[in-house]
Amino acid sequence: MKHSFWLVFILAGAIACTRATPEQQIVNDAASALGGGDTIRAVRTIVIEGEGTNGNLGQDMTPEATGQQFNVNGYTRTIDVAAGQARIEQTRTPNFAYFQGTQPQKQVLGVAGDIGYNVAPNGNATRVSNAVAKDRRADIFHHPITIVRAALDPAAKLTNPRTAGNESVVEVTTANGLAFTLAIDGTSKLPTRVVSMTDNPNLGDVAIETTFADYQDVNGLKLPAHLTTKTDKFTTADIRVTKQTVNGDAGNLAPPAAAASAPPVTGPPPATVTAEEVAKGVWLLAGQSHNSVVVEFSDHLILIEAPQNDTRTLAVIAKARELRPNKPLTHVVNTHHHFDHSGGIRAAVSEGLAVITQRANAQFYQDAVNRAHTIAPDALAKNPKPLKIELVDDGMELTDSAMTVQLYHIDGNPHGDAMLMAYLPKERILVEADAFSPGAAVQPYAANLLENITKRNLRVDRIVPLHGTIAPFSDLVKTQAKTTTD
Ligand SMILES: [Zn+2]
Ligand SMILES: [Zn+2]
Repeated sequence: MKHSFWLVFILAGAIACTRATPEQQIVNDAASALGGGDTIRAVRTIVIEGEGTNGNLGQDMTPEATGQQFNVNGYTRTIDVAAGQARIEQTRTPNFAYFQGTQPQKQVLGVAGDIGYNVAPNGNATRVSNAVAKDRRADIFHHPITIVRAALDPAAKLTNPRTAGNESVVEVTTANGLAFTLAIDGTSKLPTRVVSMTDNPNLGDVAIETTFADYQDVNGLKLPAHLTTKTDKFTTADIRVTKQTVNGDAGNLAPPAAAASAPPVTGPPPATVTAEEVAKGVWLLAGQSHNSVVVEFSDHLILIEAPQNDTRTLAVIAKARELRPNKPLTHVVNTHHHFDHSGGIRAAVSEGLAVITQRANAQFYQDAVNRAHTIAPDALAKNPKPLKIELVDDGMELTDSAMTVQLYHIDGNPHGDAMLMAYLPKERILVEADAFSPGAAVQPYAANLLENITKRNLRVDRIVPLHGTIAPFSDLVKTQAKTTTD
C-alpha cells in the first residue's frame, strides 16, 4: 500500500514536470526537429552564403508588377546570435533600366544593437534611421535557429497556439520585446515561416514574412537552404544558400565608427521648401531631393506631386497655400506610383486635396488610403478622409481663363507604365518626374520622353523637373542624343 502510494506520487510529479503547455509544445517540437534545444542554445554565430534575387519594392512598372529584379551575388548574411548583431553583404545587379545604371552595386547593411548602418562601396559608413534599424533587429529572428533559440528563453512570452492548415502557429515575444509569429510544419515540425509587423510609410501596417524550405544537415542542425522574404505580398528577397556555417568566425560586426558616433535618426529630415516663380502663376517648390510645382488658376491652385512622406508633403502644401492664401488648393497631380513620388498622397488626402493620376494607379491609391496605419499613425490616420480621385487615360486638360495644364500619359517609358507629364502650352513648360532628371549621370528614360514630346507636338522651352533644376529643352535633346550614341 505504501509503495504504490509513492509510485503514484512520483509518476504524477514526473508527468507534471514534462507536460508542456500547447504553446511551449510547438517551440519544443520545432527545437527537436531542428537538432535539439541544447544544440540550438549553443549556437553563437551563423554565416549564410548564397545567391538569388531582390525585388524592387514600390518602384516597379505598375503598382502590381513584380518583373523588375536585382540579381544577387556574393551574398553573405552573418549573425552573431548572442551579441544581437548582423550584417548582409551582397552585390546586386538590376535586370532592368535602373536610374543608377545597370552595373553591379555592392551593399553592406548592418545592425548592432540599436545602431543600423550601411557601408557604401567607397567605404563611407552612415547610420540608418531607427525604424530601419528596428526592422534589421527583427530580421535577425527571421531564421529558424534564432527564433526558436529566442522562444526557448524562459523570458520569452509564448501565446495563442493554434493550428492553421498543416501548420502549428504560435506568437513569440522575445526577451527584448520583439514580436513574431512562428509557424512550423504539422508533420516535420520544422519552422516554415516567421512573420513580424512593421510600418511602411506607403503601405501602413505590413507583415514581413520569411519562409523556409529545402532544409539540410549542418553541424548537427537542420538549416533551410532556401529563404524567401516578402513585405506585404511583394517578394523582396529570395536567397538560395550555397554554404552555411554554424559557430564559425563571424568577423567584426561592430558598427563602423562613423555610424556608431552618429546621432540617432528618428525620422525624415525637417522639410526645407523653397519657392521659385518660373512663370506667372507657376512655382517650383524645391529645397531637397524631390520637387513639386504649384499652378494658379483663376479661382484655385493645384499641386503637381505629393512626394516622399507626410513631412515633405505637408510642408509643400503649406508653402503652396502661403503663395496665394485666398485661393483654395484643390488637387494634387501624381506623376506615378513609385513610393518616393506617392509617399505624400495620404497627407494630401488628409488636407482635402483630390488626386489626379493615370487610370492604372486608381486601385493602388484606393488601397493606400484605406490601409491601416496603427503602428506609426500618419496624418490621414489621425484625420481620416475619403479619397477623391480623377483618372487620366491618354490625356486630360485642366483649363480656365487664367491657366491651361495638359496632362499626358508618357507612353512606353521603361521607368513606368502609368506615368503622367504636365505640359503648360502658354508657358511652354514641361513638368515631369524621373523620365529626365537634369544633371543625372545616367539617363535611361530620356529618349522615350523626347519621343512622347515629339509625338504630341509639344513646343517645350523649359523642363521643370521634379528632381534637379530647371533645364532648357536643348538639354533633353543633347542627353537623348548622348544616350542613343553610347
Ligand atoms: Zn520613379
Ligand atoms: Zn524620382
